[in-house]
Amino acid sequence: MRNKIVAANWKMNLKLSEGANLVNGILQGMPAISENCKVVIAPPYLHITQTIAQLKGIEHIFTGAQNCHSENSGAYTGEVSAAMLADAGVQYVIIGHSERREYCNEDSALLAKKVNQALAGNMHVIFCCGEPLEIRDANTQNEHVARQIEEGLFHLDAPQLKNITIAYEPIWAIGTGRVASSGQAQEIHAYIRKTIAEKYGAEAADNISILYGGSCKPSNAAELFACADVDGGLIGGAALKAEEFLGIIKAMVDS
Ligand code: PEP
Repeated sequence: MRNKIVAANWKMNLKLSEGANLVNGILQGMPAISENCKVVIAPPYLHITQTIAQLKGIEHIFTGAQNCHSENSGAYTGEVSAAMLADAGVQYVIIGHSERREYCNEDSALLAKKVNQALAGNMHVIFCCGEPLEIRDANTQNEHVARQIEEGLFHLDAPQLKNITIAYEPIWAIGTGRVASSGQAQEIHAYIRKTIAEKYGAEAADNISILYGGSCKPSNAAELFACADVDGGLIGGAALKAEEFLGIIKAMVDS
């Protein structure tokens, strides 16, 4: 049975005390969850040691980073390496988020190097892909997303792929309140799984978790997570309030 994952991407939000309160609120309301369900919290770098301390010893809930650098160490002012994150106790790294692709000009070659760095640190990668509105309007989203996955991940071997989760995040749905329909999500998630199967075989494709991201909320999570190829969500805005994030976790548990 593949893992179901709900991951929080706090982006550049919350002061330290606010982050601590949010994690406490999540822990207080966490439902009992089965072995194959996981929750990831990816705060800003500054919060990471605090979040790790708060989650210490608690099962099924992990600390993630929103990014890592493509090099191991060196003269890269303002950056944080995967090795540093791993040493601090980070277990998941989000790589390839559309905001980093767009605002930081992160291209596929750079993202492939970041994936390698994260895997070298024995961390699990949440690799993001997704199309802008003009690609969806032209109905070429499958090709667009397949190219992002091929360029970012297909240099990996099959054992390495076990440490990859894919997050499909249509850019037109991120932070816009406009969510993909469950039909749209299922269609492209199935296509992503087929793309993985063609390269790595049916078993690897069956085992990889594919998350949906883009205006996911407690009110739409159950319908999205009920799709056969949707294995949870990457959550932005709704992850900043304990009650909303818990509602999405509950939708994963019940799916
Ligand atoms: C995201 O940025 O990963 C995201 C899914 O954001 P939101 O949930 O706010 O659309």
